[in-house]
Amino acid sequence: MPKAQFGPAGNPDAFYAAGHKASAEMPAWLASQGLGAYEYQCSRGVTIREETARAIGEAALRNGVRLSVHAPYYINLATEDPTIAANTTRHILKSLEAARWLGADRVAFHIGGPGKQPRDRAIERAAALFLAVLEEADKQGLLEGIYLAPETMGKQNQLGNLEEVLAFCALSEWTIPTIDFGHLHAVTGGRYTTHAEYEAAFDLVAEKLGERKAAAVHIHFSRIEFTKAGEKRHWTFGDDYGPPHEPLLDTIVARGYAPRIVCESAGTQAADAKTMQEYYLAALARRSTDPVTHT
Ligand SMILES: [Zn+2]
Repeated sequence: MPKAQFGPAGNPDAFYAAGHKASAEMPAWLASQGLGAYEYQCSRGVTIREETARAIGEAALRNGVRLSVHAPYYINLATEDPTIAANTTRHILKSLEAARWLGADRVAFHIGGPGKQPRDRAIERAAALFLAVLEEADKQGLLEGIYLAPETMGKQNQLGNLEEVLAFCALSEWTIPTIDFGHLHAVTGGRYTTHAEYEAAFDLVAEKLGERKAAAVHIHFSRIEFTKAGEKRHWTFGDDYGPPHEPLLDTIVARGYAPRIVCESAGTQAADAKTMQEYYLAALARRSTDPVTHT
């Protein structure tokens, strides 16, 4: 049975504290921590050189670390501005190219904001541009083997609630959701604290996209502070904020799912990913020795 993979978004404080600087050193460092995933951050633009990307990719392959890319924050697929639309297309294609150099198999991205448009119109516009980007990516041979993964967002004024993200994911076989449960916790005013709420989320994914995609979704996880408008700030597992990770991991183990879980804690993202992985592996071991639930 495939297992869930755990790792950090970007490079944690402990990596730099250990005297490391270059991201190409991250895969070996992660393997030394027993972690198996790494999300490379292109949040402020895809500036990585091909040589660097290939060096990170080779190190990841040697160390059994699975890679994903976070696309730039400047993407807005719903924009009415043709310049922003062209830039959005370029950002996504460049992210795919970087993913190909890295050997990454997923690109997480934000759909964007509606601006002054009604939300349903904005989603229609975003879907139309996304289809055009997919077509261009396919034409350039960039799509094969790499999933584009729209993310659930944490603020009321951003597109990308769970239903909207799942509708996007039905547009192509090369699309899977990035479910950010910290964001969902923030945008729903504090939900995703119970097993039942995680069950409902995965039920919806399976209903809309099928079991195969539901079992392999991309997940972002962090403790998060929120206001009425949604997400305010990412915290760490040492801070007193939700959502809790246990009901998420219990749900995954019960279903036999193998998602990739990227921890986005502020600074402690690798240590907190490790905390999640230890809980997951213990739950998995309990399940396989329990004659009642083991089917
Ligand atoms: Zn994101």
